[in-house]
Amino acid sequence: MPRRIVIIGAGQAGRRCAEVLRELDPAAEITIFGAEAHLPYDRPPLSKAVLLAKDSGTALFPRSAEFYVENRITLHLGEAVTRIAPSDRRIETAQGRSLIYDALVLATGAMARRLAIAEADDPRVMVLRSLDDARALRPRLVERPRLAVVGGGLIGMEVAASARQMGCAVDVLEAGERLMARGLPATISTYMANLHRQRGVMLRMNARLDRIESSAQELTLHLADGFLRVDLVLVGIGASPETALAEAAGITVADGIVTDRCGRTSHPDIYAAGEVARFPHPMNADVSTRQESWQVAQEQPIAVAHAILGQDRPYDVIPWHWTDQYDCNIQVLGETTDTLHQIERAEGERLTLLCCDGDGRVRGAVLINNGREATPCRRLIASGKVFDLAALADTTRPLLSFL
Ligand code: NAP
Repeated sequence: MPRRIVIIGAGQAGRRCAEVLRELDPAAEITIFGAEAHLPYDRPPLSKAVLLAKDSGTALFPRSAEFYVENRITLHLGEAVTRIAPSDRRIETAQGRSLIYDALVLATGAMARRLAIAEADDPRVMVLRSLDDARALRPRLVERPRLAVVGGGLIGMEVAASARQMGCAVDVLEAGERLMARGLPATISTYMANLHRQRGVMLRMNARLDRIESSAQELTLHLADGFLRVDLVLVGIGASPETALAEAAGITVADGIVTDRCGRTSHPDIYAAGEVARFPHPMNADVSTRQESWQVAQEQPIAVAHAILGQDRPYDVIPWHWTDQYDCNIQVLGETTDTLHQIERAEGERLTLLCCDGDGRVRGAVLINNGREATPCRRLIASGKVFDLAALADTTRPLLSFL
């Protein structure tokens, strides 16, 4: 009898899991449930190409409807799963459907955090997480509003860049001392802050938004040290993993669904894929990590698909994410905390920042407009070799020559 595999979540991780499973097991019955009505899409274009109405083509929908038909992957879109009954290997949906599985994959993703202050439910206070969010935000931005972005993280700064390119006046309110602090070392935050200021963005660091007052004409943001009048607010203050179904089913959850390197949860035959999964850090087994990046949604499901078929193929790749803001591309590999030694390799407008530990091992790298160095950096990190830090700074020597 073919293996019955049910995937909850029709995002990038759910889609990747299904397509890898189909390659590995031509006979399996594969069913995906998605709460949203759209075909599985990737998120990177939402804050850029979709807002700017630049054709993102297959970057948004990597697979057409025909692909799922041809590969016998059954999609139930606009149909949320409401309950998992692990004891009888069954799921139930909002439409009253009940399905038995042999293996269940939770690829439920994360949801945007909301502001917990007065009047944050005004429709002019928006978030950007889904395709519908992006399609609702674009027509507002086209009107060139005065926009306040709350949260100077990746979403906030990508939207700020798109909004400036669309002619909006943009203020960014960041609670911390610097931009994108969770993913970038301080020197790169400073570089990005300068870039945004040059493009006309008003940055307000250490900002505290106490409440929002709304009138028909505008929104008044009351800050600890004054107020700001705007037409539109975009909130980008982080995301929380969608773990409610797993918790209700008794699966171990700790800011994400806890898994091993292969995506196995605490319950037999139940797996977690993508940004909802918390797994051992690929570069440090002593800590666990949950990563909200394109890479995790793309590659961690490969491990899950193999595990379902009884094969161990652990997810142990060096973390990588990128952001595009204006014409600037930043790529971040591995560990880049400010406690590491930083070695700058600058060539004109391009920069590679190598982050090294006290022994001389490269632990991470940040590339500004220098994507061609991603592969050499990955190899330096993976080598675990000890390098002479002064020599690494010599830009006359290509990085690959150190290996
Ligand atoms: P994020 O990267 O965690 O950034 C949220 C920012 O908002 C942080 O700087 C945080 O500051 C700040 N903040 C939190 N509460 C605030 C408040 N009340 N007022 C003002 N600022 C506040 O999250 P995100 O930008 O919302 O993105 C959501 C997720 O999607 C993230 O995991 C992100 O990595 C991912 N994403 C990735 C990409 C990419 O890879 N290119 C692009 C977009 C989104 P503190 O740190 O000081 O709390």
